[in-house]
Amino acid sequence: MASGELASLWDAHVHLPAYADPEEVVASARRRGMRLVSVTVSPAEAAPNLKLRDENPSAVKCFLGIHPSEAVSMPNGLEELSPLWEAADGVGEVGLDPKYSEVSARSAQMELFKAQVEVAERARKPLQVHSRGAEGTCLDVLDGYSLGGLLMHWFEGEELLERVLSRPRTFVSFGPAILYSNKLLRVAGRCPLEAVLVESDGPVAFAALGGVEGPGLVPSVAFRLAEVWGRTLEETVLQLSLNAESYLR
Ligand SMILES: [Zn+2]
Repeated sequence: MASGELASLWDAHVHLPAYADPEEVVASARRRGMRLVSVTVSPAEAAPNLKLRDENPSAVKCFLGIHPSEAVSMPNGLEELSPLWEAADGVGEVGLDPKYSEVSARSAQMELFKAQVEVAERARKPLQVHSRGAEGTCLDVLDGYSLGGLLMHWFEGEELLERVLSRPRTFVSFGPAILYSNKLLRVAGRCPLEAVLVESDGPVAFAALGGVEGPGLVPSVAFRLAEVWGRTLEETVLQLSLNAESYLR
């Protein structure tokens, strides 16, 4: 890396298939020297996501998964995904969220979550977990598996942070909400630098930031983390890049 040049930042969680023009999102990230981990919420997004990765192999990683919001509406979703797992770089976005439906032991969400964690374990692929409102239950499930890289995406379970950080090969990610949330600033301040990734969750838009969205916000997230950690932006970006590469390995 030439001096004065920033290491390449990874947006560790973005939904490229959810954009009207995902190619433009990728092109814009490439112009900034950024790379993207693109996740799916449904089997219908799988083929477009794989295509984006195949067309941009150095800039895009393709994760496949069925989101907890789709668990009840897609009883056959896993059958649709099963021939595609091998081509995926990782498994996500999967998880549990009581906002959408039941998350109890025999619920559709729980069955779907466990089946997809099993795929990640069997194939030794990195996993991305959505755990909003069910952080402890997600961790209870994950404890039953031997996983490669695990990302607890947009993790807000402050009281469970020690438990997350004591797991092997486990990362937490911060997104644009850290630009206005004191709680997330506090959580980030308690995280070891080597356990953190950054993300946009694009196209999720942030009302508190005037409705902006997308991977273009990730450098601001890195800048905020540099402030919290008392590091330079260059050091922080380098650390975040190393973390992403370690997670994706
Ligand atoms: Zn997401």
